[in-house]
Amino acid sequence: MTFESLGLPAALNRAVQDAGYSQPTPVQAQAVPAALQGQDLMVSASTGSGKTASFVLPALNRVLAARGSGQRREKGLVHGPRILVLVPTRELALQVTKAVTTYGRHVQGLRVASIVGGVPYGAQLKALRGPLDLLIATPGRLMDHMASGKAVLAHVELLVLDEADRMLDMGFIEDIHHIAAALPAARQTLMTSATFAGAVGHMASELMREPRRIEVDSHTQAHADIEQRLHWADDLRHKNALLDHILTERSVEQAVVFTSTQRDADWLADRLAEMGHSVAALHGGMPQGRRNRVLEGLRRRQLRVLVATDVAARGIDVPGISHVINYGLPMKAEDYVHRIGRTGRAGRSGLAVTLAERRDAGMIQRIQRFTTQRIPPATISGLEPRVPEPAPQQRPRPHGKAFGKPFDKSFGNKSFGNKPFGARPQGDGQHKPFAPGRGAPRGAGGAKPAPRARPR
Ligand code: AMP
Repeated sequence: MTFESLGLPAALNRAVQDAGYSQPTPVQAQAVPAALQGQDLMVSASTGSGKTASFVLPALNRVLAARGSGQRREKGLVHGPRILVLVPTRELALQVTKAVTTYGRHVQGLRVASIVGGVPYGAQLKALRGPLDLLIATPGRLMDHMASGKAVLAHVELLVLDEADRMLDMGFIEDIHHIAAALPAARQTLMTSATFAGAVGHMASELMREPRRIEVDSHTQAHADIEQRLHWADDLRHKNALLDHILTERSVEQAVVFTSTQRDADWLADRLAEMGHSVAALHGGMPQGRRNRVLEGLRRRQLRVLVATDVAARGIDVPGISHVINYGLPMKAEDYVHRIGRTGRAGRSGLAVTLAERRDAGMIQRIQRFTTQRIPPATISGLEPRVPEPAPQQRPRPHGKAFGKPFDKSFGNKSFGNKPFGARPQGDGQHKPFAPGRGAPRGAGGAKPAPRARPR
């Protein structure tokens, strides 16, 4: 399968070539031709599958088609966007905007705006006043602009709901219905979601017409490029020692360390900074400007370690992330899949390490049941747990289709490294403090939470 065979115009094929892609990913191969035909689509594909391009390319095709057909927009009149992309988070909005810029680089005079919360209104109002091709928005802030009459959505031809399940989780269901009601009924609608079960499927049936279902890789599919490991920790001290050891390994190009709470993210980033790592926290409690600077620092490799919470890290697409470390477990099993998808990007391989204490055994089971895969346990020489791996209360049951390695075949402990228990790395000499723009992203300008005995 080649990109040429998907039926895209030359300007988009060229951009894809420029990006270095030799062939479409499975989701692109299925979704792009169907979307170009104007079909409504329900696409189940996880991050890392190339799903963004699968809707951005057909969206840009619409822009080009309108240009080619000589549809002109009269000067002086306010014309809203042809394409509206709704996303759950600011980070995902940035990611989609970046993809639009990449794939739309040969589309002359492409007009794109991003409307997200947590940033000043001024630039957004200006962008909304001019003619627009594409608008990428989080539902809440778009609702504000609709209420004040500044967002004109009467000309939307294509609505994309990216990560629809997440938007519902975040309580955007009424906003989405409100926004959809303001759009022309004769539009195309594309939805991506990890699942179409329950409320998401219901919403899809309300917003779409005879949608085609495209299921390329579900949550049960193994992330082929991501190796997973599970380390059991006796207590917090042991868990910290495991983390410290892993972070000093040479193979760590860049790492995202996940915590369960914002407070833990701040606490852990402080601790790692004190140890000499170039590290920053990223969570929803930080002002947007600082979050942007942290992400920029990560992309530019000024940061080697990012300590993040689930919502803030969703959609981060940085090829240098070689490791994802689950320091605090996610609240939901599906977040585990989103977390580990931060590594193994763009055809590279990645390692996802989960550090679990005994009390996390239930969550580990839920994750294994959700993915229908066992996370292979591993130990580090000198840092083995005193108590061996807890016996599973019940065998993880596969649900839905089972792909990938069956969990019960991947037993066997791995042993690597030889750092003694409790050894505390002092940084490897390459770690530099990170100080982008106005002040360091972590701790700067914010109250530093006092370290707690147990960061939970
Ligand atoms: P996504 O699933 O949309 O978040 O995309 C995951 C990553 O795959 C991004 O880094 C894209 O730049 C990259 N990507 C998208 N399409 C292709 C392709 N056809 N070949 C190689 N990489 C791709």
